[in-house]
Amino acid sequence: MPFGAKPKKSEVQHENPVTETDVIESAADTPAPVRKRRATPRTERPKKRPTALPVLVVDETVLLPHMSIPFPIDDDESAMVIDRASRMPLRHVLVLTERPIRRQSSDIPDVGEFRELFADLGIVGMSDDETEEKPDAPEWVPDAELNDDEFELCTVGVIAEVGQRITRPGGHAHVILQGVARGIVVSYLQQEPYLVARVNRHDDPVNDSQESEAAMTAVLEQIENYISMLPNVPEEVLTMVRGVEEPGWLADLIAFSPEFTADQRQELLEVLDPVARLRRLSVMIQKRLIVLNLRQQIATEAQAGMDRQQREYFLREQIRAIQKELGEGSAEETLAGELRGKIEECGMPDDVKQKAIVQVERLEQQHPFSPEIGVIRSYLEWLVELPWATETEDRLDLTEAAAILDADHHGLEKVKERIIEYIAVRKLAGEKLRAPIICFVGPPGVGKTSLGRSIARAIGRNYVRMSLGGVRDEAEIRGHRRTYVGAMPGRVVKALRDAKSKNPVMVLDEIDKVGSDAFRGDPASALLEVLDPEQNSTFSDHYLEVPFDLSKVIFITTANLIELIPLALRDRMEVIEVPGYTEIEKMAIARDFLTPKAIESHGLTPEELTITDDGLRRVIREYTGESGVRNLEREIGTLCRKVAKRFAGDEPPDQVVIDGDDVAGYLGVPRYEFGLAEEQDEIGVATGAAVTSVGGDLLSIEVIVMPGKGELLLTGQLGDVMQESARAAISYARANASDFDIEPGYFDKHNIHVHIPAGAIPKDGPSAGITIATALISALTGRKVRKDVAMTGEVTLRGKVLPIGGLREKTLAAHRGGIKTFILPKRNAKDLAELPEVVRAEIELIQVSLLSEVLEVVLLPKESRNLHVA
Ligand code: ADP
Repeated sequence: MPFGAKPKKSEVQHENPVTETDVIESAADTPAPVRKRRATPRTERPKKRPTALPVLVVDETVLLPHMSIPFPIDDDESAMVIDRASRMPLRHVLVLTERPIRRQSSDIPDVGEFRELFADLGIVGMSDDETEEKPDAPEWVPDAELNDDEFELCTVGVIAEVGQRITRPGGHAHVILQGVARGIVVSYLQQEPYLVARVNRHDDPVNDSQESEAAMTAVLEQIENYISMLPNVPEEVLTMVRGVEEPGWLADLIAFSPEFTADQRQELLEVLDPVARLRRLSVMIQKRLIVLNLRQQIATEAQAGMDRQQREYFLREQIRAIQKELGEGSAEETLAGELRGKIEECGMPDDVKQKAIVQVERLEQQHPFSPEIGVIRSYLEWLVELPWATETEDRLDLTEAAAILDADHHGLEKVKERIIEYIAVRKLAGEKLRAPIICFVGPPGVGKTSLGRSIARAIGRNYVRMSLGGVRDEAEIRGHRRTYVGAMPGRVVKALRDAKSKNPVMVLDEIDKVGSDAFRGDPASALLEVLDPEQNSTFSDHYLEVPFDLSKVIFITTANLIELIPLALRDRMEVIEVPGYTEIEKMAIARDFLTPKAIESHGLTPEELTITDDGLRRVIREYTGESGVRNLEREIGTLCRKVAKRFAGDEPPDQVVIDGDDVAGYLGVPRYEFGLAEEQDEIGVATGAAVTSVGGDLLSIEVIVMPGKGELLLTGQLGDVMQESARAAISYARANASDFDIEPGYFDKHNIHVHIPAGAIPKDGPSAGITIATALISALTGRKVRKDVAMTGEVTLRGKVLPIGGLREKTLAAHRGGIKTFILPKRNAKDLAELPEVVRAEIELIQVSLLSEVLEVVLLPKESRNLHVA
């Protein structure tokens, strides 16, 4: 153990140790004395001799030469030391710091100071990882983790004069210690009961070299700079610092400030050469400056944001004040005033009005730039824009209504009749009649939506349409709660706002395309609430949170396929079928409605453009293949556009006539072939008819048989029902193999492949049974199938033909496809009356009840023996 090293801490530990704060306070109480240069130059002083001095051990460097501090006498040792000194003529003690023994040499970089820098910047913990990597670097180890066992006394301390004794009430006694000079310990004379050392006094030599001047100026500059960055530093501090003329003294004075740590002070105490001390100090200040600069930079950046906000705030306040002065009221007040007016005007029911007023009051209380303003405002705007009290008067003149319906749509007699009945009942029953929900069902482009518009026109109501296709989220119907960011009302409320009356005709398009999603609620049940007359008088949108009476709205829904409408909704609807059109009807629609409309909307006149019947027929047959007239309308639009372009060109024609042969010149290569593609009868291919989502369609079903192990292969667009039909057909064929001259065991040695071409997936349930069976038996027997025959019907395992739906659409498709004979189940006979005239006139309709009857009609006799397809 080195001399002077002793176990910590017991004896020296102060009950109330001198802390830096104490020093700051005391330094403030008794400012460090500033004395001018001594009159006698130090060089003349007698030669130094070591003096024996009692040692006051402290655990951090609190005193420097020329400075004074109050020192607490809080243990026996210091009491004895002070007592001893007081009895000596000069009353001197040596104040010496005791510090933990550092095991590493000091050539480790002084990371401690950067640690301080990090701490100042709030980047604490940065060094922790490093601690683990360099366990030996004491500077990185927090004090608490130091091996506390061994301490050493520094060799340089401060010789101090013991001054006045002060006793604070309730505290320890203090003495004033006045730092005199540096004292360097030469040796220790005694350890117990207190330390006595032989001390060499060190006074700073006079140094007025240029180097010293320069160092002082530099440090002064730094310190001025530094002080300017500290808040609340009194002017006198700077005056005091400037008053010092000796470099060593200057260094000590600055180091005494609370900005420096006890370690730094000790370090400076040990630098005996004044200029070197100043330089060392300069480095320390420079580091503090960097920290302060960074700190200030960060603070300024934060402040910049604050300033902008504050400026805005003041400007707004000023605007308010000016507006008040001018009697104008603030923007919010004006807005609130306007909204109050609108609330009164829009005729909302009282309970809704109360809620609205509460919101207006909230709006008035908002801070000018509160984010709530926008939210409340848009809510109130929605409320006042709804047609709470606006109602149009119905025109219930039947003749006029009929005229309007006829003016808008060709044909559709049954539908129009139903609409007229509805208007008649309304006329008689008035408000007592709860408007039924009409649902127009039919293929696309048959006029379902436009019928809705016509109804509105016929009875003089406003019209509004919303599409439900692809709606999967309940919130789309009923809105989002206002707690959501960016919440909006649902489509029903939006439609009402657009309708501008509380009793519009509202068309809900594509109600069969409403989806549902387990996570987003069920739009169908929200729709039910909208449509159900029992519930919809108090329909409440999640966003509005107030009820709106929908009972006056006439709802008209449209769907392509009734099967896909959610059952609960379907139950409440009155379904009106709008069937597909025959070619003749399409011709009439095109001639009398679509063409005149298109000519007008393209800025042409009927004199300028004529499309002949032959031209229209070509368009219908070769450019469209649909039940409705939507594509037809589009193609006619294309014709008009191209003609309009010619009229707008350099050499406008006088008149354009589009005849059959001209069509291709405008519309390009025909997209559909009218009539049968191949007029040849074939083995293993049968033509069926089905209803798909785009109306009736023909589908070719192919079967081939090949050597194999009795497997069944199904490919193409097969729904579940079709697969079952295919299996049933095969079972039928196996069971009746002998009737068709098929050898026993044939099925075990052959594979059967049934293929249904893409795009023909029927949506109307089973109806392809007899078609599959026909193709199969044709393939098995090698008998050809008549190409001009189409068929529809399901088949049982025993060969009975079952009825199907959509006969009208199917026969229309057959007619479009140039089919001459159509086989249908006998049990569909009741539907024959509904078939269009042209179908009945131009197609032979054969009713069957057994599959064998089908085969008799459609299969041709075998041409040669055993011509199986294999
Ligand atoms: P949907 O709602 O059935 O899909 P739309 O109502 O959109 O069909 O009709 C498509 C276009 O065809 C509209 O411009 C409509 O006016 C027209 N249209 C449909 N049917 C007729 C008709 N019978 N008479 C006149 N125009 C029709």
